[in-house]
Amino acid sequence: AETLLRVENLVTTFSTAEGKVSAVRGVSFSVRKGETLCIVGESGCGKSITSLSIMGLLPNNGKIESGSIEFAGRDLVKLPKEELRRIRGNEISMIFQEPMTALNPVFTVGYQLREPLMLHKRLSKREAHEQSIELLKQVGIPFPEKRMKQYPHELSGGMRQRVMIAMALACHPSLLIADEPTTALDVTIQAQILDLINELKQKLNMAVILITHDMGVVAEMADRVMVMYAGEKVEEGDVESIFANPRHPYTKGLLKSVPSVDDEEYSLEPIPGTLPSLNEQIDGCRFHPRCPFATDRCRTAPPLERKISNNHSVRCWLEEGAHSHEPVQAATS
Ligand code: SF4
Ligand code: MG
Repeated sequence: AETLLRVENLVTTFSTAEGKVSAVRGVSFSVRKGETLCIVGESGCGKSITSLSIMGLLPNNGKIESGSIEFAGRDLVKLPKEELRRIRGNEISMIFQEPMTALNPVFTVGYQLREPLMLHKRLSKREAHEQSIELLKQVGIPFPEKRMKQYPHELSGGMRQRVMIAMALACHPSLLIADEPTTALDVTIQAQILDLINELKQKLNMAVILITHDMGVVAEMADRVMVMYAGEKVEEGDVESIFANPRHPYTKGLLKSVPSVDDEEYSLEPIPGTLPSLNEQIDGCRFHPRCPFATDRCRTAPPLERKISNNHSVRCWLEEGAHSHEPVQAATS
């Protein structure tokens, strides 16, 4: 399928009291029309910052330092704020882990659904009301008329997540970015919401970027997978090859870790150690302090991203010489 989004060498930095730190360090990937790309990694690996960079929603101290984000032919990095705002919510929508951050507690569900429709699509109040009801039906909310009159706190977590998805779909985006959309929900509801996203993706031919730390969710949802570690992409491939033939030691560790069902604090026991802090200087491969296979070369020189097949690339010295392969891109850090 056609490429919808192409991110090239994205570098996102933050200014902090300790100086400038890099949260995303030269990440490149693309998303095709109608496909689901899962971005996976531990909390703090740069996956949320990557998506906020795409959305133009970085916090004030965050900045896209370099790189491009081409979406449907335009470079979002260079677009004026106004135009970016129009794309956001119209062509790209985002949903978050905690719907209460997106929903306003002082307005009814109906008001919050209607208002953007009246504003962006210039619908009358009556038309917007009818379309809101349709949206609520589309995301599987029973008694939509009643829900329209309720406030967010009167709904369960699962219902709130459905309302947020309804809001995200209102303008028929071609790309939906979902950042840990089910992490705060119990398993049954989580499965329902994932099914809903899959169903809507198919029905609306939407591309989805799903950010998660949960390989079970990846297995359920992904067409392609991108694994991030400490601000870098370490492996990317179609979901079958990532699960059948994971190459990067970090990916292998993720696949071995089984998160416990009711513990949202993910435990990464099979990978000892923790993610480095953003201002920590690490030479060579950024994973080497935690990697059981690290050699002297790993500690001094950063590995390049290598293609190991048409649909699979990895950034690890272990791949060097094991295959006849070509570099995907020059080293970026
Ligand atoms: Fe481990 Fe070396 Fe590969 Fe990094 S490059 S993941 S340290 S083997
Ligand atoms: Mg996050």
